[in-house]
Order: sequence, then structure tokens, then C-alpha cells
Amino acid sequence: MPTVTGTDDVFGEVAEKFEFLENFARGYFKRLGFEEVRTPIIEYSWVFRKTLGDSSEIVMHQMYSFEDKDGKEVVLRPEGTAAAVRFYIEKIQSAKPRAKLFYIGPMFRRERPQKGRYRQFHQIGCEMFGFDSPESDAYIIFILSEFFRNIGVQHKIEVNSVGCPTCRPRYSSALKEFFEAKTLCEDCQKRKERNPLRILDCKKDIEVVKDAPNILDFLCQKCKSHFELVLNNLKNFGVKFEINPKIVRGLDYYTGTVFEVFSTKFSNAIAAGGRYDLLVEFMGGHPTPALGFAIGVERTVDLLELSSERNRLGLFICYTSEGKQKAFDFFTRVVVSLNLISAGKGGTSHVGEIREHIVKRFDISVEGTKSLKSQVRYADSQNFRFIAIIGKNEIEKGVITFRDLQNSYQFEMKEDELLF
Ligand SMILES: [Zn+2]
Ligand SMILES: [Zn+2]
Repeated sequence: MPTVTGTDDVFGEVAEKFEFLENFARGYFKRLGFEEVRTPIIEYSWVFRKTLGDSSEIVMHQMYSFEDKDGKEVVLRPEGTAAAVRFYIEKIQSAKPRAKLFYIGPMFRRERPQKGRYRQFHQIGCEMFGFDSPESDAYIIFILSEFFRNIGVQHKIEVNSVGCPTCRPRYSSALKEFFEAKTLCEDCQKRKERNPLRILDCKKDIEVVKDAPNILDFLCQKCKSHFELVLNNLKNFGVKFEINPKIVRGLDYYTGTVFEVFSTKFSNAIAAGGRYDLLVEFMGGHPTPALGFAIGVERTVDLLELSSERNRLGLFICYTSEGKQKAFDFFTRVVVSLNLISAGKGGTSHVGEIREHIVKRFDISVEGTKSLKSQVRYADSQNFRFIAIIGKNEIEKGVITFRDLQNSYQFEMKEDELLF
């Protein structure tokens, strides 16, 4: 039985990569002073209709929306920023005008089915409220770049400025004029009037777009000097980047600096973001500058290479009928004190190693009526690194036998030596 079109089950190695990425992100962004917010997956539709615009592609074609039983229109969130802004205005702004937030979770868009595009996809995002300096733009790009470097993902960064309500309309009309007599794809034909900027990132019209006017020639003085300072600060941070005047974000609320991160593997960005100084006010909050980014989890997971050491992990207890009672005593004694056992500490290297694996993964056979041999086979098939064997011999000697399934050697140890 298949899953809903555009969705997929996450399991096995891919689930491990999701876990690794989410754990790393949580630790990394917390250390940098970001606080996690878990907003609901469903929101009232105005949150996105207002911010993305009723005529935007997402709102018109891609939002999962339905009328709730009380007649209110509810949507599955198509992106994280608008929800974070809604939360910031409602719960944070009055007490703390400056806030650094991050979120991790699924988003939903009814995209045309194609490889690498999901209707339920996941994002890790950061948002900074109350920061207007060019240093903050450079900072957020720097930490995003370092995020990918830390997890071993080769990438390049492209930056641009999409101007402000003073200068962008001038650019829009210059674009309209330029595209006037040109032949464009069906979608862009419609974009010509409504949103000519979006034509710039069309994959079908690359040839036509080549000679289009450059937005950087149209920036007002304020936008121009802000952008120049952002570029200077990026150099101070040691961030390598390229300026790409064709970058316009798919979401219309961006102002000023925008950026995208690309890997060598896909043409689509693996992360993107920018400044959205007008969005908080537009959604009903006090005027507050803000900026942020979102990382595509599925695309990043595709690029992750975890070390094979992760494969064989943990300790599994096997026993014979004579050893059963002691095996269960050992198991419960470890489980009740799991939070007291720390990895790597202990008198001998064996103790340290076993503890290290207990912390990572720990289980017992619940098929004790099966032969010891078949319990060991099970542990092997589940990729456990160590097994503990408790049988007649071990009971008589008052020890537990530990076998390393990776390096095929075994040793005996007393339970008390291992635990306390
Ligand atoms: Zn401007
Ligand atoms: Zn097009």
C-alpha cells in the first residue's frame, strides 16, 4: 500500500540521518543563542494568505487548506517563517523585542510530483527579530555556512539584494518593459504582469533572462549602502560567496539581502533566506526588522555521509535458562540507572567501551526459550556491537561474558565492575 503521493516513510539509514541532522541543528543553534519554538502544524489560513499573498503560487495552488467544523479555514503550514512571525508578535514581542528563534519540522505543499520534491517536506529554520544591521545579515549567512561545513556538506553561497518598496517598483517596471515583447514559458507569461521578478529564477527561460536588467543597478541609496556593508562584513567573517543578481526568493515578503546555498549535487538550493523587514508590521506587530533562513532537510540528508562506525552499536543481552534470572536482574539494574551511566568512564578500557555502547543502545532478548545461538544470531542481524552472555558457566563464576561481534573476541567481567 503506497503512501500519499509526494510523501514518504523515513526509516533505517535515512531516519538515522534525519536524527543526526536534527540533533546537530538543535545543539548548534542553541549554542549560538537561538531558542526553539514548536509552532502548530495547522494554522488559520490568514497567516499565510496575508504574508505570501492571495495571488502567490503557494496560496493559489499548493496550500493544503480545509474548512474546519466551526467554519474557519485552516491550512497545513507551507513554510515556517510566517508562523514564527505570528508567534513572535503574539507571545514574545512585548517582553523581548530582540529574539533569536529556531524551528524544526514538517511543511506541506501540494507540488507537482517530481523527483526530490515532496508534499510533506522538512525544514530547519532560524529567525532573528529586532536586528537591522548589515552585521546581522553577514552573521546569519556565516552561521548557515558553518552549519553545512560542520556536517561535511560542500556548498557555495550566493547573495543578492531585492531592494525595498522604494526601489523595487522601479526595477519591476524595467523588467516588465524588458519582457514585454519576449516569448516566455506559460507560467512566466502570467508572471509578466503580476510578478516579473519571479521570471528571473525560471528554469525554462534562462536564455531570455540572461540579458535582463540587473537589480543591483536599481537599488536606492539606502539599500545599496546596506548591501555593500553586508558584503564587507561577509569578508570579515571569512565567508566565501558570489553575488548573483538573478536570485529572487520565491516568497514575496523579502526586502534587501537575500541568499541561497547550493551543493554541487543539485541545481535547487539546499537552504535559502534573507531579510524581511516589513513582515512583522504587515502581520500586525510593531514595526520590527527581521531576517532568517530555512534549510531543506531532505536535500541535506541526501548529501550526508555518516561514518560506518554508526552501524554496529550497543549491547544486547543473551542468556540460557540457567542465566535468565540474572540476565533480567542485570537488564533492569542498567535501565533504572541509565541516566547515571556515562560513556567512556571506567577502570579498564573494557569497562569504558561497554559503557559507551550501553549509553548508545541497550536491549535484552525476550525470546529466552530460543537457543543461545539463535539469540546471538538475532543480535548480529540487528547490528549490535556487543553481546552479554549469561549462562551456567557465568552463574558459577559470578561473571558476565562480553563478546565483540565486530572484532570477534570476548572477555569476562563482574557486573559490579561494570556498573558501580
Ligand atoms: Zn531600496
Ligand atoms: Zn518561465
